[in-house]
Order: sequence, then structure tokens, then C-alpha cells
Amino acid sequence: MPTAPVSNLFYQSRQPRPMLDRGEGIYLYDVTGKRYIDGSSGAMVSNIGHSNPRVLEAMRRQMEKATFGYRLHFQSEPTERLASETARRMPAGLDRVFFVSGGSEAVESAMKLARQYAVARGEGTRWKVISRHPSYHGCTLGALAVTGYDPLTVPFAPMMREMPKIPAPTCYLDRDNLDPAARGLKYAEYLRDEILRQGPESVLAFIMEPVGGASTGALVAPDSYYARIREICDEFGILLIYDEVMSGAGRTGAFIAAEHWGIVPDLVVLSKGFAAGYMPLGAAVARSDIVETVLDSGGFLHGFTYAGNPLACVAGLAVLDEIERQDLVANAATMGALLKSRLDGLMETYPFIGDVRGKGLLLAFELVSDRASMRPLPKELNAHSRLVEIAYERGLIVYSRRTRGGYEGDHFLVCPPLIVTETQIDEIMGLLDGALSQFADEIAP
Ligand code: PMP
Repeated sequence: MPTAPVSNLFYQSRQPRPMLDRGEGIYLYDVTGKRYIDGSSGAMVSNIGHSNPRVLEAMRRQMEKATFGYRLHFQSEPTERLASETARRMPAGLDRVFFVSGGSEAVESAMKLARQYAVARGEGTRWKVISRHPSYHGCTLGALAVTGYDPLTVPFAPMMREMPKIPAPTCYLDRDNLDPAARGLKYAEYLRDEILRQGPESVLAFIMEPVGGASTGALVAPDSYYARIREICDEFGILLIYDEVMSGAGRTGAFIAAEHWGIVPDLVVLSKGFAAGYMPLGAAVARSDIVETVLDSGGFLHGFTYAGNPLACVAGLAVLDEIERQDLVANAATMGALLKSRLDGLMETYPFIGDVRGKGLLLAFELVSDRASMRPLPKELNAHSRLVEIAYERGLIVYSRRTRGGYEGDHFLVCPPLIVTETQIDEIMGLLDGALSQFADEIAP
């Protein structure tokens, strides 16, 4: 049994966790040899699975050449190539890439670039970045300021300039008579109302996760929402930032989720599946005129020591190659549809599953007391941690959160690597069914 941890991850808990030994494909093994299915790709990171030999070989070759070159001293070929390869996968016009080491850094970079663009255009009154509640955009103070997840933000409120929030489109909880299209428009209008309340001249940008992640459990809005949000941003000259840290790099069955609705954001934020856990890597991708304007005004006042380092970029390039070579974006769409229908099927057996949602392989289910009211399960049941614990014991990793702003509701992300096969989906579903059945017995009156 591992001893109580003393390292960084475990600042959150004294609870020992199994000691990781190795990973292979969609499986992870601890030092006792126990095997786990990585049913959430870590935190929706390991998109191409573990220990991919092509990625390891590309990294080994780069390590033998140069592991680090400071970005202000040298350009590096892998960094330039990854920028082009990333831009090639983006909607036309989004062709400038600022590399960083993770999602929070990428969000900060996008927001600061947006701010400098406004200042350079003589619109220095614009600084507010409107976001949604619930949402998650990162843990650094800037990214936290746009995060709508009270347990993580409230203690730090005095230390940051909290940004205005509008309700996220949690349509599955609505009990009105609207059809989905009208509901989507209703939620989009919250943005217009908020812009008018704040004063349009003070609003810089709107940031949203096109398919929600940790905070909302794979929340997808009705189609009408996306186009209307773009229109509203255009009406007031507000930049639209898509945070695709979780939804990007193929996870939803498109390289970025924006493609599903034909939306062209002004800035796109990537991380997680981008280098798929092989190296820390993130990116803020911007319209070239935004970057040119900032450059003309003296340059981007921002940077991280490790930003754009060649080793991380080689890993990113090799991951993109694998996504293409194995056609993983298409696999995410096909396997996602299969997994979603299998999760939908669980609703027949377990009345406490209130909703199954998501796109591609960014999928989640939510537990409720009953479907009529959609009230959450009692907090004391601690369902979000108990069900994860049961699944873990059985060798299946799923990712859970208490949702709806962080205080109530339990959702579970089922997001295996994009390399998952039909047989492996059977395996995941077998273990999940067993875990749910044990959980049902435990909570039975
Ligand atoms: N944005 C989104 C949508 C995320 O899901 C996350 C991480 N869960 C972040 C930003 C922050 O990324 P990181 O933890 O790499 O800083």
C-alpha cells in the first residue's frame, strides 16, 4: 500500500493513490500490476493513448539534438512547423499561434492578447471578459477570474478582478415549453443583456467552452446558440474566445468543436489533447490581424520561459501526425456515437441517471434524485466521489465533479482516448454497469 503522499498533487488530499507504473494504449498499470482502463484519458488529456512508440521516438530524436532553446534567442523548426500544422487545422484566418505549457496559460495568453489588441486600436476602455457560470477556464488568477465554479473561485475573490458571468446553457434543467432552438436563443440573449448592462464600450471579449468540460459535464447548447453568440459579439465589436482546451484536438469528432457549427472564433485556446500528455503544451491561436496590430504597437507584453520549447512542440507534432495517421477525429465521432448510445441505454436500468450528453468522445452522465424534478442526489451520498471510487476498485477510471455551479449535482465524464475500439467500449460499459449496480445497491433505501 502506498504511503501518504507528500508531493504537489496531494495538497488536495492525504488519501494515498495507487502508485503509477506504466501505461499502454488505453490502459494504465500500478506498481502492483493492477490494470485500469483510462476511461477519462486522465483529465481528457491522453487522446492518443499511452506510450505511443512513434511519439516517443520523435521525442527521443529531438532530445538528442536539443531539449531547450530559449524562444527569444532561437526560432526552432519544430515550433514553426507545429504552428503551421495547427493553423492548417483551424478555420481560415486563425493562423498565428502562441505556444505555452498548459490550458490556464493559454487562456491568460488569449485574454492578454485581446486586451493589447483593444488598447492598440485606441479602445482602452475595453477590459471585461464576460464568461459563463458554471465554467472552468483554469486556476491561475486571470483564468480563475473568468471561471464560474464557486468552490474554486470564492476563496480567491479578493485577489482578482472577477469578471461578469452569464448563465451557461444548462437547458436540460429547464422545464419551460420552449423548443430547443428557442432555448438556445434564450441563453444567447443573456450575453446581449449582460453587454448592455456592463456598457458595450467596457467589454473586451466573451469566453466560452463550446462543449463544456469539467464544470458542466460535457454541456452542449442547442445549435441556434452558437451562431447567435457570434452575431452578438460582432454587433458590439467584442472578441469571441473559444476555450477548446478540453474539446479541441479531435475529442468531439472535429479537430475543434467550433467546426460543428461553422463558427469562426477570433481566438481559440488549446491544450490537453494537443500534446496528449506527452509534454506540457498549450496554445492560443489568433487571427493574424490581431497579432499584427499588437506587433505594430510594440509587441506582446507576455511570455513564459518554457513557451514554445522545441521538445514540447515535437511531441505536439507527433501527436498531430498520429491523429491523422490513425484517423482519430473520425474514430472519435464513430466511437463517440456508439458510447453515447450505450450510456443512453443505462438510463433504462438506473432511474438515477438524469441526463446523458456530449459530443464525440466528450461525454458525460449526470445523477439525479428523480428525472421529473431533476433534483440532485442528496449531498451526503457524496455520489461524485463514491461512484468514482467503486469504478476505480473495479479497474475503470472515470472523472467526476459536483456540477451546477459547484454546489449540487454529480456528473461523470466518460472520455476514453480517441484510439478506443468497439471491444474496449464493451469492456468500459461492463465495468461501468457493474459499478452503477453496486452504487444502486448502496443507496437503496
Ligand atoms: N480550460 C478548460 C476548458 C479546461 O478544461 C482546463 C483544465 N481542466 C483549463 C482551461 C485549464 O488547463 P490547465 O489545467 O492545463 O491549466
